[in-house]
Amino acid sequence: MPELPEVETVRRVLERHVVGRTVREIEGRSVQMRRPLDITALQLALSGTTIVGARRRGKFLLLDADTSGSLLLHLGMSGRLLLQTPAEPALPHTHLSLRFDDGRELRLVDPRRFGLACWLAPGAEATDDSLAALGMEPLDPRMPDQLPRLFGHRRSPLKVLLLDQRLVAGIGNIYAVEALWRAGIRPSRRAHRTAARRLERLGREVQTVLTEAIEQGGTTIRDFATPAGDFGYFAVRLAVYGHAGDPCPRCGAPIGDSRLGGRSTAWCPSCQR
Ligand SMILES: [Zn+2]
Repeated sequence: MPELPEVETVRRVLERHVVGRTVREIEGRSVQMRRPLDITALQLALSGTTIVGARRRGKFLLLDADTSGSLLLHLGMSGRLLLQTPAEPALPHTHLSLRFDDGRELRLVDPRRFGLACWLAPGAEATDDSLAALGMEPLDPRMPDQLPRLFGHRRSPLKVLLLDQRLVAGIGNIYAVEALWRAGIRPSRRAHRTAARRLERLGREVQTVLTEAIEQGGTTIRDFATPAGDFGYFAVRLAVYGHAGDPCPRCGAPIGDSRLGGRSTAWCPSCQR
């Protein structure tokens, strides 16, 4: 599943290669995704517009058109964006294709269809169900200082709160696990029993681990001219996620694996308290 660093990497590629381009043609099939994909509506709204911005909100992407509406995209569980020439055959499960004035096509491929692509008319962003419910951006410089206020009075385990998109938007399972390990905090620790300074530390570790992963994604942007036109996927170095049974990189004790909020949670029972 694409996590925030992948989505941010995709955003940077779109900013570099799609912003400034004019949409010439839109093709696709009106399939059911997280929301119904309405190709006719996208053709009416986007044809002839120029893309003037590429933004990210949590794990959503917004391509802003010069008409002040936006194309809202989400990659769901299995979505990918490809930037290809029309000569390259479309992959199976290509649901949407935008052809730009430079001849390239932005293609949305999503076998499992948990993603979405829909038009947000001018002003619709503020009231969109998915966007309006999103909490703070994890990379907002104010986030660590805000965590005691956002989390502090709640009785839920910190891991569960980190994944709650209404509090902080865009942290997935991998980065919640890694940030808790870095902060030396047990994932099942209840927020209301955690000192404010430890919550602030957790917020800073979230930002560090996300920023490091985004920097690793920067390599993919430089190598972008791959024949497949694929981008945004890269391997990151992880300390504990996927390492259950291995020695903890900090203290050497075996990494454990618990379930919390229905999600697999790697952690070190020795040095996370
Ligand atoms: Zn340890």
